[in-house]
Amino acid sequence: MATIFTRIANGEIPSYKVAENDDFYAFLDINPLAQGHTLVIPKHVEDDYIFHLDPETYRGLWDFAGEVAQAIRKAIPCKRVGVAVLGMEVPHTHIHLVPLQSEGDLDFRKQRPQFTPEQQAQTAAAIRKAYEER
Ligand code: AMP
Repeated sequence: MATIFTRIANGEIPSYKVAENDDFYAFLDINPLAQGHTLVIPKHVEDDYIFHLDPETYRGLWDFAGEVAQAIRKAIPCKRVGVAVLGMEVPHTHIHLVPLQSEGDLDFRKQRPQFTPEQQAQTAAAIRKAYEER
C-alpha cells in the first residue's frame, strides 16, 4: 500500500505544493514549525530511512532540497533555512526545510504557530514562484 506521501505526490491527497520535478516533490508541512516549513520527498522511492536510499535518489533528493531551500529563502523572510531528517512519523523518506529566525525554530517539541489555509496557500504560491523563477 502506498504511503501517505506517495499519495500526496500522486495528487490523491491534497497538499500545498511548493516545487516538483520528475523524481521529487516538495510541499508545505501540515503542522509547520514556521511559515514556509517544507517537506521534500522522492516520488518513486518510499524507503523510510534516508541513509538506505540508492545513491542516485539520495544525491538527487539533496540537490532538489537545495534548490527548494533557495526558493524558500527568497520568498520567506528568514536568516537561513534549517534542515532536519526525522522520519519518526511517516515511513517515506523526507527532508524538513524550516525557515529560521533562531535555532529555537527547529525545536520539534515547541508549540507550533497556526496558519489558515489561505495563509498556507499564499506561502506555497510565493515559494513556488521563487522556485519557478530560479
Ligand atoms: P517525521 O516523520 O517525524 O519527520 O514527521 C512527519 C512530518 O510530516 C510532520 O512534521 C507532519 O506534520 C508532516 N505531515 C504528516 N502528514 C502530512 C500531510 N498530509 N501533509 C503535510 N505534512 C504532513
